[in-house]
Amino acid sequence: EIIDFNLFISQIIERFEMSYKEVDFVKDLANDSIFVEIDPDKMTQVFDNIISNAIKYSQKEQKRVEFHVKQNVFFNRMTISIKDNGLGIPKGKVDKIFDRFYRVDKARTRQMGGTGLGLAISKDIVEAHDGKIWATSCEGHGTTIYVTLPCELLEAGEWDAN
Ligand code: ATP
Ligand code: MG
Repeated sequence: EIIDFNLFISQIIERFEMSYKEVDFVKDLANDSIFVEIDPDKMTQVFDNIISNAIKYSQKEQKRVEFHVKQNVFFNRMTISIKDNGLGIPKGKVDKIFDRFYRVDKARTRQMGGTGLGLAISKDIVEAHDGKIWATSCEGHGTTIYVTLPCELLEAGEWDAN
């Protein structure tokens, strides 16, 4: 299904804004439409997990989740970054968070619920879309998750329809 990514992610963010009124959601979305061919249900699962993690793994008084969307026309890809101001992840453990059942702090995360599968599933879904997912983090300061996806090149006339 070909989807306008800005619209798609806006609807997901809106849903979180309604459920988490105390969290500050900052949106820096692209001005132009970016069309991606995705399975919307599967991709919703990906972003639901990333955003839930951003909120869940934070003890800050004022939680903040920032979204940046950028299109790289030259490479025909788009990147979204989702940055939180939460607990962060220790150096050397950042890449492990995409492993099945891996959880950074077993004692603490056990009480939080979850299985440690969310990001492993997210990675499978993103890669099935020819995309990539990775993370950078600074312990105590926060984490940023990046997702890149191929985007669609539409013929000149097709833009009008949207
Ligand atoms: P599930 O998603 O299955 O409910 P989960 O959230 O523990 O459980 P993942 O989403 O795969 O599983 O995340 C794996 C681990 O990576 C988490 O347990 C947590 O330790 C760490 N992690 C993920 N996202 C963040 C984040 N934004 N900030 C800090 N740690 C994170
Ligand atoms: Mg999770």
